[in-house]
Amino acid sequence: MSFSFCVSCRFPFAQSRTPNPQTTFRSHRDVKVRSNTNHRLLERDVLWSGGGSGAIKAIDESIMLRFQSDWSATDASSAVSFLSNRWRVALEIFRYERARVGLDEDRWFLGWHEKKSYVGKTYLNEEDEMGPARGEIYVSKYALLDDDFSTFIGVLRHELAHAMCGPLEDHGWKWQKACKAIECDEEWVCEANRKFYVRPKTSLMWTKRDGQLFLEGGKDAMFRALPRGCWERTIYDSESNRTVYENADGLKIDPFALKETYEIL
Ligand SMILES: [Zn+2]
Repeated sequence: MSFSFCVSCRFPFAQSRTPNPQTTFRSHRDVKVRSNTNHRLLERDVLWSGGGSGAIKAIDESIMLRFQSDWSATDASSAVSFLSNRWRVALEIFRYERARVGLDEDRWFLGWHEKKSYVGKTYLNEEDEMGPARGEIYVSKYALLDDDFSTFIGVLRHELAHAMCGPLEDHGWKWQKACKAIECDEEWVCEANRKFYVRPKTSLMWTKRDGQLFLEGGKDAMFRALPRGCWERTIYDSESNRTVYENADGLKIDPFALKETYEIL
């Protein structure tokens, strides 16, 4: 497995037919956000129709410390239970952060993928006959396996900023403004955080945990740890066409039936 090339974020414009507008890539370093100690209000022109209220709460450090403790305390005796626990904590963090940055709980979904070639990916869906503007954020299984808590927080906030800015923005000034407003670590305020891939000890740890997973449950062991309904491949085919999950009984489940989707194992 090579780590010499990497992309930390892929940013497909699902169901958006708008061409990529170069004009939004202009630099805007003097970022200002109206704020007080407890919350900030991001200007509406930064947000798209699915980007929430713009009302952003300050990070509650005591809550983050609890998340970090839960992240670090997961039992490593079983690789399946270890990854399953990491997903449980990740979902709690996602729900907390989604609310904190003003995104609608019915419109924003967390899933996972099994790739090393990118860490996070956000799909953005314009309003259509299926519903209002909404989206999905997928985080790599390898970010979940990472013992560095800041990796998951960094990639999550990077993708949440995409969720707030929408399909007409890539990594331009609006996105940077959203990153600053939600307190995304500077290391992740970039198109690709290459540091993610150049940590030999972490790479060895990934290999070790992949091996443990295989020994415990074969090639499908990850589905014993992570909900199949939230697997990116289940929802999008190789050409990024949206599909609908179908369980063993042939029952079709829309991924935005979040409760059911999170429970599909
Ligand atoms: Zn990105």
